[in-house]
Amino acid sequence: MPAYDTNNIFAKILRGEFPCHKVYEDDHVLAFLDIMPRAPGHTLVIPKAPARNILDITPEDYAHVARGAHKIAHAAMTAFKADGITVQQFSEAAGGQVVFHLHMHVMPRHDGIALLPPASRKEDVTVLEDNATKLIAALKGM
Ligand code: 5GP
Repeated sequence: MPAYDTNNIFAKILRGEFPCHKVYEDDHVLAFLDIMPRAPGHTLVIPKAPARNILDITPEDYAHVARGAHKIAHAAMTAFKADGITVQQFSEAAGGQVVFHLHMHVMPRHDGIALLPPASRKEDVTVLEDNATKLIAALKGM
């Protein structure tokens, strides 16, 4: 497996070199909206530790990401009046991974509405801002 690349886009987001719509942060994880959401409110939870994917992250750091995804999932149910949640995590190109800093996708789901295919369209900034506001409010209420 290739080594972790410190110039990947999520590493740049973590260093504040590239913007994101942040919804949650603690000592171990950052959560922000996916710019090409497969469903409204699609959020990515990433470790602050440099890890490419599930194959090189420590169990402890992976647990922190899972805990973050759990928190986002519960808030997203309220924020987006969702009927369910899909959580996904891809490792290596063969596993469907495109960005090589570990991330868990948390996607709010509604009955009868399919996920968009990956990278279908870039969401409007105003929609992302609105969805981030809703999710942050739901997180505050937890
Ligand atoms: P994966 O590596 O699991 O296949 O997916 C990478 C995800 O990162 C995709 O859902 C894609 O839309 C998202 N993504 C790619 N570039 C950016 C970016 O610059 N900002 C944000 N917020 N999401 C991104």
